[in-house]
Amino acid sequence: MAAKRDYYDVLGVQRNASADEIKKSYRKLALQFHPDRNPNNKEAEDKFKEATEAYEVLSDQPKRQRYDQFGHQGMRGGADYQNYNDVNDIFSHFGDIFGGGGSIFEEMFGGQQRRRGPRSTGDPGSDLRIRLKLTLEEIAAGVEKKVKIKKWKSCATCNGNGARPGSSRSTCPQCQGSGELRQVSRSMFGQFVNITACAFCGGTGQIIKEKCSTCDGEGREQGESTLKINVPAGVSEGNYMTLQGQGNSGRRGGQAGDVIVEFTEEKHDSFIRNGDDVIYTALISYPDAVLGADIEVPTLTGKSKIKIDAGTMPGKMLRLKDKGIPHLNSYGRGDQLIQIQVWVPHKVNSHEKELLKELSDSEHINPSEEEKSKSKSLFDKMKNAFS
Ligand SMILES: [Zn+2]
Ligand SMILES: [Zn+2]
Repeated sequence: MAAKRDYYDVLGVQRNASADEIKKSYRKLALQFHPDRNPNNKEAEDKFKEATEAYEVLSDQPKRQRYDQFGHQGMRGGADYQNYNDVNDIFSHFGDIFGGGGSIFEEMFGGQQRRRGPRSTGDPGSDLRIRLKLTLEEIAAGVEKKVKIKKWKSCATCNGNGARPGSSRSTCPQCQGSGELRQVSRSMFGQFVNITACAFCGGTGQIIKEKCSTCDGEGREQGESTLKINVPAGVSEGNYMTLQGQGNSGRRGGQAGDVIVEFTEEKHDSFIRNGDDVIYTALISYPDAVLGADIEVPTLTGKSKIKIDAGTMPGKMLRLKDKGIPHLNSYGRGDQLIQIQVWVPHKVNSHEKELLKELSDSEHINPSEEEKSKSKSLFDKMKNAFS
């Protein structure tokens, strides 16, 4: 992964820049690099996303403070982290930053209509959202998932163009075959040409004389499709990824939408996730706690041995280095924390009862007055163990 540029450098402002300066600078960059103004320009799209990410952090006072203090590292993890894979996400997130509910953005860039990749004909297809359930083991290792979805697919009979195979077409009289209608408008940034798809021909520039009978001229039909989703190790609940062009096919050859895959995490029987660490509770016997023992514990990648020292109190936390979940955005991984609990039996037989009675009067078995007074601090320790 390429090193991230400093957000202040990205926006070209000083570290003490005011909120106004930051906004102004972002607006300038957004206008310059917006994908609708730079079709087929990956570099411009990347610049646009980079600037938007920088703005997202620097325009938010708590996030800016955290960034000033910790840098990019401070932005990772937690609910604030967003991946902007899709330009439309940025629209939905920032559509209103220029004031007036996004109207200026829409005026300049032709609304929500996307013009990505090669100029598409017909109406673009819509995005699909799916939720993908993952086990903790799958998250720890990364996984390739196959998911069947129902969606609009390009019509196989007419190849998506909506015309009966072999039938002729004629040029659209409304747009003279360009598929576009141009409208000049004025805004506070100057004069803009607003281009919209011709509604008469659906942006194709051509009129179909005979419709394909399979799809009734729509160029698409309902069908099933199998998605292959490569889930990277270390994702969290709520993270999502965008599969470009895998959503619904557009009408009459229109560009397909995306599939947005949101990850959800299944509850695990043995582990609790805490960031990239996992917490496991090990139940040991009273003699093992007193005398010490080597015990075996499950991990996300098989079993591991761990040593319990003699005289281990309940609540003690042990740590298995690097047995947690890989960090999503950097090298390394979290740890497995093991909290020790001591098993107290519900039932004992008469022989065990005898032994325990004998033991209970023995010299080192009962806590001294001094130990009893320490128990308060032990409780505090346990309370803080998870925070
Ligand atoms: Zn068809
Ligand atoms: Zn037309």
